[in-house]
Parts: sequence; C-alpha cells; structure tokens
Amino acid sequence: METYSQLRKLGLFDARVPRYTSYPTAPHFAGGVGSGHVSEWIQAIPSASEISLYIHVPFCRRLCWFCACRTQGTSNAGPVRAYVETLKKELATLKQNLADDVRISHLHWGGGTPTLLEPDMIADLTGAIFDVAPLGDRAQFSVEIDPNEIDGPRLDALAAAGLNRASLGVQDFDPMIQEVIGRPQSFEITKEAVDALRARGIQSLNVDLLYGLPHQTKGRITDSVQKVLSLDPDRIALFGYAHVPWMARRQTLIPTEALPSPEARLDLFNTARALFMADGFAEIGIDHFALPEDGLEKARKAGTMRRNFQGYTEDASPVLIGVGASSISRYPQGYAQNESATSKYQERVRKGELAIARGHSFSRDDKLRGRIIEHLLCDFKVDLAATADEMGADRATTIALADGLAESMPGSVDMVNGVLSIRDSARPLTRIIARYFDAYEMNASGHSQAV
Ligand code: SF4
Repeated sequence: METYSQLRKLGLFDARVPRYTSYPTAPHFAGGVGSGHVSEWIQAIPSASEISLYIHVPFCRRLCWFCACRTQGTSNAGPVRAYVETLKKELATLKQNLADDVRISHLHWGGGTPTLLEPDMIADLTGAIFDVAPLGDRAQFSVEIDPNEIDGPRLDALAAAGLNRASLGVQDFDPMIQEVIGRPQSFEITKEAVDALRARGIQSLNVDLLYGLPHQTKGRITDSVQKVLSLDPDRIALFGYAHVPWMARRQTLIPTEALPSPEARLDLFNTARALFMADGFAEIGIDHFALPEDGLEKARKAGTMRRNFQGYTEDASPVLIGVGASSISRYPQGYAQNESATSKYQERVRKGELAIARGHSFSRDDKLRGRIIEHLLCDFKVDLAATADEMGADRATTIALADGLAESMPGSVDMVNGVLSIRDSARPLTRIIARYFDAYEMNASGHSQAV
C-alpha cells in the first residue's frame, strides 16, 4: 500500500480519530466517578509498590497561538505561587490516603509552563512531593522546559531536586513559521537551554517537534530536524499539529490558508522520519523516535512499552496519579479527572477534598479493548489470544473482535493464528485501525486529523 490513493480510500486524509492515550478517551469520562471512589482507589494501592506522578502547571507567560493546551497567561508570579500552595494541599490529601512506603517510578511536570516556578517554589513543591512518596532507585524525574522561561537558578533548583530528563518544546525553528504560530524561539536560545541542562548533568533530552504547521515545507522541516539533531537529543516526539479552532479559540489567529494539505502533512512526517532514521534513531510507535540505548527503545524491543496520557513510556506502574487542575489519573479501577477550571480546582482542594470532576470506571470490556488498542499503538500488532488470556477474557470472543477488519481495511492488516499485524506500509492508518476496537460513539470534531 504505497499510493496516496489507497491511503485516501481507507480514510487517512479525512478521518479525525483519537490519539488513544487512554481508553475510553477523555470525552467519554462522566460524572459517575467522584472523590469517594478515588480515595478508595488510592487506598487500594499496595504498600511498597511504585506509582507514577504527574504535576500539572496551567500557567504560561505567553499564549502561543498554535497551542490547544488548557492554560492561562500570567505576567507575575502571584497566581503561580498561590497555585503551588494548592498543589501542596492536594499532595497532603493524597498522602492521607496513600500507603507510607509507596515510591515514585516516574515523576513528570507538564503544563502549561512548569518552568515558570521560581527556585523556592521548585524546592517547596519537590519537598511536598517527596513527603508523599520518595523517588525510587531508578526513577525518572522529567520536566517540560520552555527555553524562553528558564534560567540558571531554576535549573539549579530542579537539578538539586533530582531532575534527570528534560523535555523541550521546539515545534519548528523557521522564523516565519514561528511568527505565524505565535511562538518565537530561536535556535540559539534553545541551544543555551540544552547546554545549561547538560552542564548540570541532565543528559537525557527529549525534543517535541510539530509537522503540519502553516508554511511548513519539506525544506523547512529538514532544516529544523537538522538543527534538532545537532542538539543531540536521545528522544524525539514528532506530533501532527491539530488545528481545532472550535476548541482552542486562539488558533483562529493561525492562517488557515497556509496550512498544508493532508497529503502534504504525510510528506512532512515522512521527510522528518527519514532523517531521524538515517541518524540512527529507532521508530517508536506512531510519533516518537529514540536512540538504541534509550530506555523507550529498550522497552519497545522487549515488548514492555506502554502508552499513557504522556504518550509512550517504559514505566510499568499501573497507577499514574495526576495532581493539579484538569489532571487525569489512571488507576487499575478506572480514570479520574480533576476540575478543569483552576479556580474551582483550588476552591475544592482548599476544603481538603480530592477535586475530582469526572472519570470512568473500567468494565471488563474496557480493559480488554484498551489493552488491544494499546498493543496496536505500541507494537503495530496484537496477539489477540494472549491478550484475552492476560485480561481474563474468552479467546474466541476476543479474536472475533477483529472480524471484518481485514475486509474494511484491505491491504492494511494480516491475521495469522490470532495475531493481528499492521503492515509496515499501512502504519499511517494505525489510529484508524485501532478505532475498529473502540466500542464508544465518536464525535469526530473533538479529535485530531489521522495524519
Ligand atoms: S506551547 Fe507551551 S508556552 Fe505556549 S501556550 Fe502552550 S503550554 Fe504555554
């Protein structure tokens, strides 16, 4: 399946499909899960086990036009300082419910711009986190770094707290593209941030790039990729720009007429992909690349890579607790999401509540379908019989979930002895193929383009 016409026939250039960082996807979360459920779920976490922790900081100094993240602009530290106090209070409530000897396997700060926190706030917050649970022996502590919003004292505070992986947003280095997406960020300032991280011993580096931006061409993305490679990252995320101005109003500032066509988006992705592969990176799932010695690639090869709200991970913990406004947690029993509006989140946390607004309790069917979809997104194949065994489901019924898929997506999948594989040439269709196993109604307007 090499031709665009075949990919078009199978819907690649028209479909809007979930990214499947959860199953069911967040639009299906509802009000049936509340603080009572979640405190029971936290209390059920076994002692001496490891958890992942995500801290969300929904503030930015500037609001980039392309960004659909739920975040608010602030020009001073006051709201951020008050928010850190609320995070500490939420962590204290978490601690009351959590076994004493739990440790953290993965700690990630995202946003928004977590590097808006001043050095004393970083020390204060990490102290509160490690009071709930210390980092485990081989734990990863990563933070999303905005090169425009970082300085030596902040990096010193993060390094002192144990930061060992940094994630830098780049999008594209072309100045004209940066201007029309409202995100100026020179290569020089990005390189300074990288050098400052490395000078503090933080060697593991992830860079986020976007394809499908206005005015992006093969030549421009090639130039950006080469600049990214000169920074020596060990992991790269190559996401498609999601133009959803009906959900993210600031995207109305993006010149729609300058957006590449779906076919051009695929060309841009393939151009960047070829450059990463030629430089020795391994392809990780649908949108990541990693060096052979990186933990993600090792996990992929070992078949232990997982997918969660942060994308691909080598973290095996079944519990990911999200702290902060709008954060989503995953427990073996289901998902729970905090209040999205920062004011409402703060009001509830200050009262000593877990600020759960909605969520979803897993059914057996959710767990089975979610695991099948996760395998497809991670491995481009799924052993349906083995997955049935793993999830305590009936083999024949599980294999039958794929009935009709090969006919509806001709030339894209193979089924041999209960193992469903996506052909290499059909990998761009992976999210569409995964949707086949999604039992929930889909409102396509909320999802991003399939390519
Ligand atoms: S890209 Fe980063 S800095 Fe810009 S608005 Fe989004 S979260 Fe904030």
